[in-house]
Amino acid sequence: MAEEEEYRYVNAADIPTVFFSESEEQPFHTCTFCQKELIKSESHYFVEKAFRNYPEQGIADIIFEYAICIHCHQKMHESLSIPSRKAINAYFLDKKRPHEVADEYRYDAAQYLQRCVISGSEVDQLQEYQIIGEFQGDQILLSEMPILLSGAVMEEVQELLSPQTKEELDDFMDTITGLPPDLKELFKRDKVLII
Ligand SMILES: [Zn+2]
Repeated sequence: MAEEEEYRYVNAADIPTVFFSESEEQPFHTCTFCQKELIKSESHYFVEKAFRNYPEQGIADIIFEYAICIHCHQKMHESLSIPSRKAINAYFLDKKRPHEVADEYRYDAAQYLQRCVISGSEVDQLQEYQIIGEFQGDQILLSEMPILLSGAVMEEVQELLSPQTKEELDDFMDTITGLPPDLKELFKRDKVLII
C-alpha cells in the first residue's frame, strides 16, 4: 500500500489547463453528477472532455466536459451489462498502445495527449477527440492516463455496447438529478462513456 501511494505521489503534477472546466476557467471543483466537492476533500475523480478540432485556425472547440467522482464512475460502470463491460475491456487490452512518453516527459501531461492511444493518430490530424484524465484533489495522476481517444475510436467503442446496455445507460442518466438538462441530453444522444 505504502509503495502504491509513493508511486502515485511521484507521478502526480499540477492540473494542466487543458483539463480545466471551460466554463469555470479553473479545475473542476465538484462532480458533475453528484456535486460532491473534489479539491479540498482530495477526492479521486476523472475528467473527460471532447473537442472538435479546427487545425487550420489552430483552435479546438469544446463539445462537452465533465468531472465524475469515483463513486459515480463505479455506478456508471455497474449500469453496463457484463458482456458490454467484457467487450470494452477486451478492446482496450487488445488495442491499447503503450504510452510513447520518454522518461524526461513523465511529469508532462501534454506529452500523453499528442496522439490517440489506440490508433496512434496525431492530435493535429483528428477532427474530433476526447481526453480523459485521473485526478486526486488538485493533482493529475500520470500513469496509464491521461489518454486521448480519436472520434473514430469512440465510435468503435460505442458499437461494442448492446442495445440493452444503451438503454441501461439512458436509465442511469435518468437517475442523475443535478445534471444540466442539455448535458443530460447530450449524454443520452452520444452515449458518452468513460473508460
Ligand atoms: Zn459523483
